[in-house]
Amino acid sequence: MEQIGYLEPLQHEPSTPVTYYLPVGNERVLLNEALGETIQLTFLGEKACRHCGRKIKKTYNNGYCYPCYTNLAENDLCIVKPELCHFHKGTCRDTAFGEKFCMQAHYVYLALSSEVKVGITRKPNALKRWIDQGAVAALPIMEVPSRKIAGELEVHLAQYIKDKTNWRKMLKNDIRDENLIEVRAQIVEKIPEEYHPYLLPINEPYTFNYPHLSVPDKITSLNLDKQAVITAKLMGIKAQYLIFDQGVLNIRKHTGYKVSWHI
Ligand SMILES: [Zn+2]
Repeated sequence: MEQIGYLEPLQHEPSTPVTYYLPVGNERVLLNEALGETIQLTFLGEKACRHCGRKIKKTYNNGYCYPCYTNLAENDLCIVKPELCHFHKGTCRDTAFGEKFCMQAHYVYLALSSEVKVGITRKPNALKRWIDQGAVAALPIMEVPSRKIAGELEVHLAQYIKDKTNWRKMLKNDIRDENLIEVRAQIVEKIPEEYHPYLLPINEPYTFNYPHLSVPDKITSLNLDKQAVITAKLMGIKAQYLIFDQGVLNIRKHTGYKVSWHI
């Protein structure tokens, strides 16, 4: 079986375990079925912008050409630093994008991928976000009306709790035994009074598990620019990574790379 086309980020469904698909061009490979198989993944030397499709030598921000990187609202600095949202100043790169993606309900959440971290996400995108981070548990603690407010809260809470995932520990399944409901109780005390109306009632955390045959004890990063042909056995899938017996490949980073996938 062989698929040829441009890579896109892994797609998934929140089943138990998570069901993963690898989009290659117009096709989608069901990855759970490929566990234990030897895969040959070959970079064919071409890259194309995931937005406009132009052929490029180098991708920016996971799959964009340089003009799309500097012009599209989804590549603005305020996407990674939402507290810098400048919509209210009338300078949003794309008002329609801002209204659709930023002026809507967001969660401030706690998630456990390696240790507990605080994060934010659009409410309808929450499950996707948590799986993309390889979280094994997640608990929304607040629901706020915009990305900017969520970002300000995240910056505030990041004084007390991490806001980054240790991706090596996440892939090694080296996870601290922490209870999200207990962490929530501690963190709520740090939230300024004026934001308390946004607090959500306490619910059971969401939990996730990921398809795998074994967990790597050492993490070697694979990179299609350095190694164009990967021949290896697929041992697991977590977050946006394929975990092979010879190393791990971040698929999102390789968005826009033309490849062949052969089992
Ligand atoms: Zn482009």
